Amino acid sequence: MRVLLTGGSGFIAAHVLDYLLEHGHSVVTTVRSQEKADKIKEAHPKYGKDKLDFALVEDIAQEGAFDKAVVSDPPFEAVIHTASPFHFNVTDVKKQLLDPAIIGTTGVLKSIKKRAPTVKRVVVTSSFASIVNPKKASWPEHTYSEADWNPVTAEEAENDPATGYRASKTFAEKSAWDFVQNEKPNFTVSTMCPPLVLGPIVHYLNSLDALNTSNQRIRDCMLGKWKDEIPATGTFIWVDVRDLALSHVLAMEQEDAANKRFFITEGHFSNRRIADVIAKNFPEYKDKVPSEKTPGGTLPEEGIFKVDNSQAQKLLGVKWRSFEDSIVDTVKSLKAVGA
Ligand code: NDP
Repeated sequence: MRVLLTGGSGFIAAHVLDYLLEHGHSVVTTVRSQEKADKIKEAHPKYGKDKLDFALVEDIAQEGAFDKAVVSDPPFEAVIHTASPFHFNVTDVKKQLLDPAIIGTTGVLKSIKKRAPTVKRVVVTSSFASIVNPKKASWPEHTYSEADWNPVTAEEAENDPATGYRASKTFAEKSAWDFVQNEKPNFTVSTMCPPLVLGPIVHYLNSLDALNTSNQRIRDCMLGKWKDEIPATGTFIWVDVRDLALSHVLAMEQEDAANKRFFITEGHFSNRRIADVIAKNFPEYKDKVPSEKTPGGTLPEEGIFKVDNSQAQKLLGVKWRSFEDSIVDTVKSLKAVGA
C-alpha cells in the first residue's frame, strides 16, 4: 500500500516506519524539519524515494497543516496518524497539548476527505489515557477494555499537565469517532490505545537528554536516580513499542480491524520490576540500581485493575514480548547512546 505516516521522528513512529517498510509498503512520512528527514533517510539506505519519502509539516495544530502532505503520486491508500505531543513540560495546556492533539487529528481527517479520496484506511494512535478513569486510581474490582472512556471534562483538562495530556488524547480520539459518524468519509478508522510504551529507541534520532517521555524512567534507573527510593509506578500497565508498532500496521492491513478501537497492552508491571530486570541482566549497573531493600515502586497493596486485551489478540494476533526482553532491549539501546 502507499501510506502516509505522520510524525515519523517519534519514538513509536520510528518502529511503525520499519514495519511498514518490512511489509513492503511505500511510505511518505511527515517530519517537522529537513534535518529530521535527512537523519531518517540516512538510517534507511536500502530504500529509494519510491519506498521512503518525506513531507514537511511543521505544526499539526495549524488548520490545513496536512492539505499538501495528503496529496501524492501515486496516491495514498492509507494514513497512520501518530504525531501528537507527549510530554508534561508545558505552561499552556491548550496551546501545547490540546490543540495539536485535537486539531492535528481532525485536521488530518479533513485533509484526507477533501484531497485524498483514494485513502481507504486510517489508523490513529490514541492512548490508554483515553480509556482510564484516573479518579478511580487502582480500582481492583474493575477490568478495563475498549468499552471504557476517560470521563475528563474540558474544564478539568486545564488543571495540570498530566490531566491536560490525558484530556488531549481523549478529546482527539473522540473527535476522530465523531468525524466518522458525522462526515461519513470514504475511509474507515481504527484507533490504537496503548498504556506506557517501553522498548528500544532508534539511535539516529535520540540522545539521553532528549529521550521520549515513556522511556525516561528506565534511563533514570540506569543513571542511579532511584538508588534511595523507587518512584511510584503511576500507570501500572505497559506494552513493548515493537508490538504496538506492528499492531498499527496490522490494523491498517486487516479489513476486520476497520472502525474498531484497540486496547494494546501486555499487562501489568511496576517500577520495582524494571529495577530488578536491570540488576539481574546488567551487573555493570549494580552500584546505580536500587537493591531489594530500597523502598517504593511496588504495585498497590489493595490490588490493581485488570485488563481485557482480547480484541487485539483475536483480531490482530499480536504475540506480546515479555517485560524482561523489552527492558533488556531498551537498556541496550540506551547504552548505545551513552547511558
Ligand atoms: P514522541 O514524543 O517520541 O513523538 C511525538 C511525535 O509527534 C514526534 O514526531 C513529534 O515531532 C510530533 N509532534 C508533536 N507535536 C507536534 C506538532 N505540534 N506538530 C508536528 N508534529 C508534532 O512520542 P511517542 O512516540 O511516545 O508518541 C507518539 C504517539 O503515541 C502520541 O500520539 C502519543 O500520545 C501516543 N502514546 C504514547 C505512549 C507512550 O508511552 N510513549 C502511550 C500512549 C500513547 P518532533 O519529534 O519533531 O517533536
